[in-house]
Amino acid sequence: MSTQQSVKLSVRGVGKDFQLRSGEHIQAVSDVNFDVHENEFCVLLGPSGCGKSTVLRMIAGLEEPTAGTLSLDGHEILNADRERGMVFQSYTSFDWLTVRQNVEYGMKLNGVAKAERLERADHFINLVKLSKFKDAYPKQLSGGMKQRVAIARTLANEPSLLLMDEPFGALDAETRWNMQELMVSIMESTDTTVVMVTHDIEEALFLGDRIVFFSTHPGTVLEDKAPAFKNGQRVAKKEDVLTLDGYAEAERHIMKLMREQGTEDLDA
Ligand code: ADP
Ligand code: MG
Repeated sequence: MSTQQSVKLSVRGVGKDFQLRSGEHIQAVSDVNFDVHENEFCVLLGPSGCGKSTVLRMIAGLEEPTAGTLSLDGHEILNADRERGMVFQSYTSFDWLTVRQNVEYGMKLNGVAKAERLERADHFINLVKLSKFKDAYPKQLSGGMKQRVAIARTLANEPSLLLMDEPFGALDAETRWNMQELMVSIMESTDTTVVMVTHDIEEALFLGDRIVFFSTHPGTVLEDKAPAFKNGQRVAKKEDVLTLDGYAEAERHIMKLMREQGTEDLDA
């Protein structure tokens, strides 16, 4: 794993001020600072409305910061780019394409030759354990399977950074932990670097090599830590993390932070 590795993504003094049509301003986030290293799984955690999605969208280049800078591999992030692949909570596959065609789609746009496209598509379909379904259409798949298509499709473009915004939020509990375990195996078998947003504490503790916790209104980094109970190791199975020394304390600590931040606006 990662802690000795070089900085991949650097977020420095980043703020975002939204101007509303009424002329009012909303300071979504302020003075956000954190780094993500090569092959690190970084989780952005915090109460609803604290600005996690806003920060992720700025990393993706879909939103511009109003203060500070974000850089990837030493270059400032100025706009959306296929270097950064995004997986959203909602399913984003094309209904009229098969699983394999969906995974091939981005590569086709990028001009990857047919033979290589097929080989890479099969590799990533295999990685997300959908080999039996490569000729199926999305509507024939369960929610978890559709989300695996989205992950394979995004990874097939070989993004330098994989961004995920509550990607498993719409899934039932069992599918959700299967997906979390799949992400651990993807981290172990590829050199992918991930930034994932969640408000699920258990998910953050299981997946995060590092957890960046945001305060609310305006969102800023309250805490940035590698979960100590993992000793710098990833854990392959969800149930195995629960019995590690220090897990319960870590969970209690984050619950306390979460409660202290509260959720002022339930619609956020
Ligand atoms: P989170 O993902 O942590 O729930 P968001 O990043 O979605 O939080 O939102 C943070 C704050 O920024 C909220 O107060 C939200 O209303 C505001 N916000 C987000 N996007 C916009 C936008 N496009 N225009 C105006 N305000 C926005
Ligand atoms: Mg959000």
